[in-house]
Amino acid sequence: MSRPILAYIDQAALKHNLSITRQYATDARIMAVIKANAYGHGLMYAAHALQGADGFALLELDAAIDLRNAGYKHPILLLEGFFSTQELALFEKYRLTAVIHHAEQVAMLSNCRHRELNIFLKINTGMNRLGFPVEHFPAVFERLTRNPAITDITIMSHFATADEAKENDNFKQQLRLFNQVTQTGALSPRIQNSGRYHSLANSAAIIRYPETHRDWVRPGLMLYGASPFINQSAADLGLEPAMMLTSKIIAIQHLKKGDKVGYGCSFQADKSMRIGIVACGYADGYPRHAPTGTPVLINNRRCRLIGKVSMDMLTVDITEAVDVQLNSPVILWGKGLPVEEIAHHAGTVSYELLCAVSKRVKIAVNHERTPIDPASGAQRPSCTSTVDR
Ligand SMILES: *Cc1c(COP(=O)(O)O)cnc(C)c1O
Repeated sequence: MSRPILAYIDQAALKHNLSITRQYATDARIMAVIKANAYGHGLMYAAHALQGADGFALLELDAAIDLRNAGYKHPILLLEGFFSTQELALFEKYRLTAVIHHAEQVAMLSNCRHRELNIFLKINTGMNRLGFPVEHFPAVFERLTRNPAITDITIMSHFATADEAKENDNFKQQLRLFNQVTQTGALSPRIQNSGRYHSLANSAAIIRYPETHRDWVRPGLMLYGASPFINQSAADLGLEPAMMLTSKIIAIQHLKKGDKVGYGCSFQADKSMRIGIVACGYADGYPRHAPTGTPVLINNRRCRLIGKVSMDMLTVDITEAVDVQLNSPVILWGKGLPVEEIAHHAGTVSYELLCAVSKRVKIAVNHERTPIDPASGAQRPSCTSTVDR
């Protein structure tokens, strides 16, 4: 038997989450964000399950080309655009859409002899990461509308705090600036007409701020079934986790009072204990900062992680869980144990945990809806194929 850790990807959950996204944003087109190997879910599995979306967005040019070569006809948006004129040629060849956020890209576009490029032009409304400053935006826009290589311009921006307190000042300020630049005459009427498509909303804004939906929404996290909010769970939002990170107990130790566990001996038994060693560590993507007390699901029971997470293993307290034995299946996160909870314990966000699942963790997919019930002892889903990432 090979090492038992596995990321089980539920394509039906991905489809379900896409349909929930449509319910939140009924009038917008959906650009499914599948960057970072589809947040760790496997690019091609996610794209297959999310083919009902109206477009795909990512940052990796090779992955975008793979998608095109696999036959996807959707608009494919590269969220950081192109980095050289050589890359720009590939955008034309593979009919990719570029986010244009920097003057250098505008210059590369003026020298290019390509045709029929679609672009998303990014305004910096306060995130201060990518995008043209509000003051320069109308001039850049005007210049690009005169560029014969460009067919279609969608105006976009990105929120820094859509997931924080509702209607927070920063969010309101960003939206106000966007509206000012795009709607209130800062652009000439002719230009306004050619930039009539807008794109603003990530998952948090899709759920919370319908006024941001406009023409294209850009959901990422919610498609994978995690909540962007601290005070609302994915289940509250109607979402289902698409990844289940599973492994098994590969050894059991019996501790006496005073015995210590793992590197640094940071955990010490205050009574006799039975502990299980799980084949999952930080080299698999499990967070090393998850402290003692972080929940691990075994036989539908929440056991607590104890001691330090090491590179390849972690340790759980199974003193009370008498039914747990060698080879018992373990759920690190997934249905019944939201990844958001693990992220919270580890002082990070679910985004980081999902996309950190490492290459050595194989992905298993089922193409049918086979219900996985953690209550049934976390059986491995039956009709799966296991593949490398
Ligand atoms: C990653 C990303 C998204 C998706 O954000 P979520 O919070 O995962 O929904 C949307 N837009 C841009 C520009 C992004 O980089």
